[in-house]
Amino acid sequence: MAMLLKGGPVAAALTEKTAALTESLVIRGITPTLAVLRVGERPEDLSYERGAMKRCAAAGVAVRSAALPEDVTQETLMETLEDLNQDEAIHGILLLRPLPERLDGEAARQALRPEKDVDGVTDGSLAGVFTGSGQGFAPCTAQAVVVLLDYYGMEMRGKRAVVVGRSLVVGRPAAMLLMERGATVTICHSGTESLPEITRGADILVAAAGCMGMVGPEHLAPGQTVIDVGIHQEPETGALRGDVCFEAAEPLVKALTPVPGGVGAVTSAILAMHTAQAAKRRL
Ligand code: NAD
Repeated sequence: MAMLLKGGPVAAALTEKTAALTESLVIRGITPTLAVLRVGERPEDLSYERGAMKRCAAAGVAVRSAALPEDVTQETLMETLEDLNQDEAIHGILLLRPLPERLDGEAARQALRPEKDVDGVTDGSLAGVFTGSGQGFAPCTAQAVVVLLDYYGMEMRGKRAVVVGRSLVVGRPAAMLLMERGATVTICHSGTESLPEITRGADILVAAAGCMGMVGPEHLAPGQTVIDVGIHQEPETGALRGDVCFEAAEPLVKALTPVPGGVGAVTSAILAMHTAQAAKRRL
């Protein structure tokens, strides 16, 4: 039976650290503040926003919601972003994506001021992840993978890590962060041949393919540590599931993150931490 790498204790420990940092900033008259910029009312966005608000509140980070209607123009979106960029009271901006297709999400992403890019979406932040320079902030979910492994004492140095998924939000930055920590990393994607053969060779397997239950027994081997980044809602039951077939993995592998209650819980704690760090950097 796999050891469950639960996100709750990791998020609680991070939140405690962030709260201490926030307290030291508040004494100096600064309340770290996150602005959440949302277009429309997508249930996924609302749920992520609620999670972020709760976690930020626990860490003493203020949250300001900037909600725009579904039919907002590109011009108004860019003006709102610029206002948040200029607002001295805002330290971090979370732009909920994907934006409606008729909007230019790429322009919005790049318009974020790098020092407020606490979700690591701009090219500047990604360059920081790829060069290891520490510039900007790493994407929260990618960082959550490494933070979880660290918290549970899972050695990365010298290990074979396989990341399934090459998105700029999760797969690629997670691979870079694992490599930075000394793992030997393979990135798999939708064009990868013989995926099960490759994943079975992993010591650390990160599933970020966005396909419910796609990682099954044929992809897994005993002794592995499996980090399941996927979040999906089962259409019939409404239950949350990951990219990994939990029933297949749990009796087989060494350690496994549950869904829900794994990576997702840590992601929002990292967002709060980045916001407090952005406020501190401004000093
Ligand atoms: P994405 O769709 O942008 O990228 C998916 C990647 O997986 C692509 O690179 C694709 O090549 C690869 N892929 C897809 N099917 C594959 C297959 N059958 N075999 C091999 N590779 C395959 O998704 P994303 O934004 O990176 O998100 C991935 C998952 O993580 C989603 O389920 C998403 O909901 C979840 N997610 C979770 C959090 C969190 O906080 N836990 C945050 C962001 C995203």
